[in-house]
Amino acid sequence: MIIKQYFNSYDGKQYSSELDFVYCPKCSTRLVKKEIDGSSRSYCSACHYVQYINPLPGVAVLIEKGGKVLIGRRSQNSFESDKWCLPCGYVEHHENYLNAAHREVFEETGLEIEITSLVNVSSNQLNPNLHTIVAVLTAEVIKGTPKPGDDLVELYWLSHSDPFPDMAFEGDEFTIGKYFEDKLVRIPVDPRFKIVNQL
Ligand SMILES: [Zn+2]
Repeated sequence: MIIKQYFNSYDGKQYSSELDFVYCPKCSTRLVKKEIDGSSRSYCSACHYVQYINPLPGVAVLIEKGGKVLIGRRSQNSFESDKWCLPCGYVEHHENYLNAAHREVFEETGLEIEITSLVNVSSNQLNPNLHTIVAVLTAEVIKGTPKPGDDLVELYWLSHSDPFPDMAFEGDEFTIGKYFEDKLVRIPVDPRFKIVNQL
């Protein structure tokens, strides 16, 4: 497969100043800009807190069944509302990315899954406010009937012959396209987290 692990909708060089804190989240002192580790960062002169602006870690899951892929339409109040995507979401601090995949799939589709492989990790510079790094997994359904929930309002099993609907993320369209061409490279995942019973 031709590897594509970087998707961008802007030059990716400068994040939005909207992300900068004005006051220290720890002690409420007004922050100042200071050169730290090669970049100008918001810094608290009272408690020495430094605000590092980092990408957000996420997961996306390609659930396959009989050659079809489960996609969902995004709710009105979500980013890229009304567009379609793979079940996806952010990794919480207390979980690993495989457990995050089980949780997000269950929240958004009601399905319990077996994770079958890791097929990509991508940087997605979506806009100057939002940069995600997403582990893309494949999975099969082990229990449940698809029912949209959380950020998704409609689910659809997309087949090779369907035209693509308006997709929210270029990376999802890339992954699904490679799946239909049978060109995904599948890396095994840690068997301890392929199936979880405690969702
Ligand atoms: Zn402080």
